[in-house]
Amino acid sequence: LDPAAEQELTDGFHLVIDALKLNGIETIYGVPGIPITDLGRMAQEEGIRVISFRHEQNAGNAAAIAGFLTKKPGVCLTVSAPGFLNGLTALANATTNCFPMILISGSSEREIVDLQQGDYEEMDQLAIAKPLCKAAFRVLHAADIGIGVARAIRAAVSGRPGGVYLDLPAKLFSQAMDAEAGAKSLVKVIDAAPAQIPSPAAVDRAIDLLKGAKKPLVILGKGAAYAQADEEIRAFVENSGIPFLPMSMAKGLLPDTHPQSAGAARSTALKDADVVLLVGARLNWLLSHGKGKTWGDKPKQFIQVDIEPREMDSNVEIKAPLVGDIGSVIAALNARIDGSWQAPPAEWVEAIRSKKEANIAKMAPKLLKNSVPMDFHSALGALKNVIKERPDAILVNEGANTLDLARGIIDMHQPRKRLDVGTWGVMGIGMGFAVGAAVETGKPVLAVEGDSAFGFSGMEVETICRYDLPVTIVIFNNNGIYRGTDTDPTGRDPGTTVFVPGARYDKMMEAFGGVGVHVTSPDELYRAVSAAMDSGKPTLINAVIDPAAGSESGNIGSLNPQSVVKKK
Ligand code: ADP
Ligand code: MG
Repeated sequence: LDPAAEQELTDGFHLVIDALKLNGIETIYGVPGIPITDLGRMAQEEGIRVISFRHEQNAGNAAAIAGFLTKKPGVCLTVSAPGFLNGLTALANATTNCFPMILISGSSEREIVDLQQGDYEEMDQLAIAKPLCKAAFRVLHAADIGIGVARAIRAAVSGRPGGVYLDLPAKLFSQAMDAEAGAKSLVKVIDAAPAQIPSPAAVDRAIDLLKGAKKPLVILGKGAAYAQADEEIRAFVENSGIPFLPMSMAKGLLPDTHPQSAGAARSTALKDADVVLLVGARLNWLLSHGKGKTWGDKPKQFIQVDIEPREMDSNVEIKAPLVGDIGSVIAALNARIDGSWQAPPAEWVEAIRSKKEANIAKMAPKLLKNSVPMDFHSALGALKNVIKERPDAILVNEGANTLDLARGIIDMHQPRKRLDVGTWGVMGIGMGFAVGAAVETGKPVLAVEGDSAFGFSGMEVETICRYDLPVTIVIFNNNGIYRGTDTDPTGRDPGTTVFVPGARYDKMMEAFGGVGVHVTSPDELYRAVSAAMDSGKPTLINAVIDPAAGSESGNIGSLNPQSVVKKK
């Protein structure tokens, strides 16, 4: 080939990058290595932002949360076999949470993998990914990269969003083809997540049910947050006058301080409601499957808004299914909140309001104690004020007690500002979500982490320092999982749930050039977090919490099986 002819060629590397760019993908989260090291380098050279992590699961979590925040698939790039498997955990988690994400993994020689001849990092990745995500594709020819990427994007964001696996064997990257033909082979995905309009009959059915309700309740889930139909949702809630209850990641869709919020009267609202309108929230374990003690003895009728038809009747009968995208469905409902609409009975609204105020008043003194050592309430009281003063900051939250108590105590004021453990209640999302949120939004991020939860992704503090991200991490350090008080009954080892007592997580941050702070009182915590968030510098605050504070598994201790022959 003479040099002029060489100019006319493109290859798999460049086609992948061009296909992503053509479809508006601006960032790749990943970990470099064989066979995708050069792909990352070239992507960076071509203007894509490439964020390199220390472990693929965290890169995958960053991509997943990017998908949730932007409605575009977050892209995670990994090496083959072990790197792929690490990323797959995040892909499965994204799929479970209905976040759009694409995991792109390099893979080994097909001919050797399929004959199981023992290649470097040999694994049939496509087969393994398939049951754990929404869709999985493999591209073998450079000319098919455009279609492969287009299919991955459409699968990730259309209908119920989810994770997609894209398998790219090493050989594909160096396959060359004519540059012009290559450019023509690329596909720009048009209307990747088309609106899905509910049927008029379904809207009538739902409106009839709502009009007959004496104790109506709206439950907003993270699907509603994802949909970015904030104004339609606010108009519906305010014009209908129905009390609303946000699920964890829907907090802030309407402010938690909104007069119609039933957040602090959750138990009462769920028990006593007669007609419940679910908006992008599933009746899974987080809502006690729509039955049992949580929901009281009185009969319930459910209306459910969801883009996934098969979600209906998954746990209990849905009297009025509203299948469609949340923006279109809520707009259709809004068109029916007219002169004939009557606000819910004052008695119901008042019952929720008074319960809520009583609960808030009961909680208030616990949040104000300036105690040393801190307990969860006093520490969270300080952080509640930090977020109140910075309503556009993003709160990442994980841990057991740290999660359950923060969810109730820290009010959210704007949509999509609370990112947490989601549908699986999984630990380990912390640093991945923090990086993804900071990169995608440029807003200050506050990650409130149990010391145990932090451990799953803690090495990414180096990533946070390297990219100089505006992330403040607060470790609620009570020396262990749930509590720091377990002992080994035989006296040989530390108890199974405890860590090194008095560990100084703040020093980890200093090792990488970030700011480390050690605090022991709520006042100190408030000052340190405020200063960190104002500075925008990567900061880790080690907040010492009483090792005896905290309950087993936080709010969900009842999920622990009990031994009938336990030693006394
Ligand atoms: P939460 O945990 O907050 O209750 P879930 O994850 O259980 O929320 O439920 C989210 C639901 O939202 C899923 O069933 C998903 O299909 C649905 N969903 C996601 N995006 C949309 C959308 N744009 N329109 C309608 N439904 C959506
Ligand atoms: Mg702990």
